[in-house]
Amino acid sequence: MNTLIANNIRTYPLTLVDSEGLYVFDNKGNKYLDLAGGVAVLNFGHKHPRLLQALTSQAGKISIVPRLFYNEPLQNLLNRVCPMSGMDKGLPMNSGAEAVETALKASRKWGYLIKKIPKDQAEIIVCEGGFHGRTLSTISMSTVNKYKENFGPLTPGFKWIPFNNIEALENAITFNTAAFIVEPIQGEAGVIIPNPDYLKQCENLCRAHNVLLIVDEIQTGMGRTGKFLAHQHASIRPDGVLLGKALGGGLIPVSLFLAQHHLMDVFQPGDHGSTFGGNPLACHVAYEALNTLIDEKLSENAAVLGNHFISELRALQTPLIKKIRGQGLLISLEIDTDIITTADLFVKFVKNGLLTVDTQSRFIRFLPPLIITEKQVEEALLIIQKTCESAI
Ligand SMILES: *Cc1c(COP(=O)(O)O)cnc(C)c1O
Repeated sequence: MNTLIANNIRTYPLTLVDSEGLYVFDNKGNKYLDLAGGVAVLNFGHKHPRLLQALTSQAGKISIVPRLFYNEPLQNLLNRVCPMSGMDKGLPMNSGAEAVETALKASRKWGYLIKKIPKDQAEIIVCEGGFHGRTLSTISMSTVNKYKENFGPLTPGFKWIPFNNIEALENAITFNTAAFIVEPIQGEAGVIIPNPDYLKQCENLCRAHNVLLIVDEIQTGMGRTGKFLAHQHASIRPDGVLLGKALGGGLIPVSLFLAQHHLMDVFQPGDHGSTFGGNPLACHVAYEALNTLIDEKLSENAAVLGNHFISELRALQTPLIKKIRGQGLLISLEIDTDIITTADLFVKFVKNGLLTVDTQSRFIRFLPPLIITEKQVEEALLIIQKTCESAI
């Protein structure tokens, strides 16, 4: 039980004290299978030995170097992540929302300097139901009222279109459009997967109208959907890519705004910064996280076991679950809330030793570590089946 804490999150009364791989332990010694995965942070599981080693060895050398000086882990990280993502340069930040803010600033500046949009007229198109963080500008991008209510005045300059609707994008673009920022799969909205050709069509439209395409991979990246980045399924090359969450190996906050030269080069000294952005401790862990993703073939494991998990879930045939959505190990259950609320089902899962994420009203999400084994998928399925049967 936490007291003296702001009441900004609904919290389930469970105190977690220890962890190992896919399991966490509470203060009474109970063990839980963790399909919440820190909401897409724990792609490598809890305290992955190689990443723990990376953290402690770098902490024993040097943790913080201000960007006034060079540091080697930052360079190693960029040398690794740029070719993997098809981007030319990176700008390191700490949280996902900060990476989004960085992309907003870069896009607007590109709009004024390169596209010659009239002063203060730049527009950025975003999707209904999208999620990009909880800072003032990132809630300004949201269409979820609860996130925005009583926090105005909000950041102007956003335009909303329905997700997965290419005509809506075409109709929304004007000369003043600097960028279209989109999640390749809408995570928080309940794992909404667009048509296979949607992202390619977005890329074509953006090219045709001189609009930047920026893909928010903070939840979908780092192998989650079966490739390093989810938009790589669509074989596109955006102008910018956002990474966060699992980039820090589940051990440290770190995020990246990655971009092609023409976009990143709008930044000049003094334009942007972050006290902790690019610190060697976070960069070394992120570098080793990327190496681990490759060496342990975790994207491949997400593809294979994700497919298996999704088809087994579809075979469960319980009236509680209306629809399964998923790609790789990004999975959601659409719950029949006439039978049970997601909050109640979430609690039943916890009582049966399974941690999940309950999103907006209708969905329960699974974002298990990508190191999950077939045996652990079976273990999860048994708990899910048992819980669903006892809940009717
Ligand atoms: C979680 C998330 C963010 C925000 O990341 P924070 O680290 O919580 O600021 C942004 N975009 C997407 C798609 C996310 O899932």
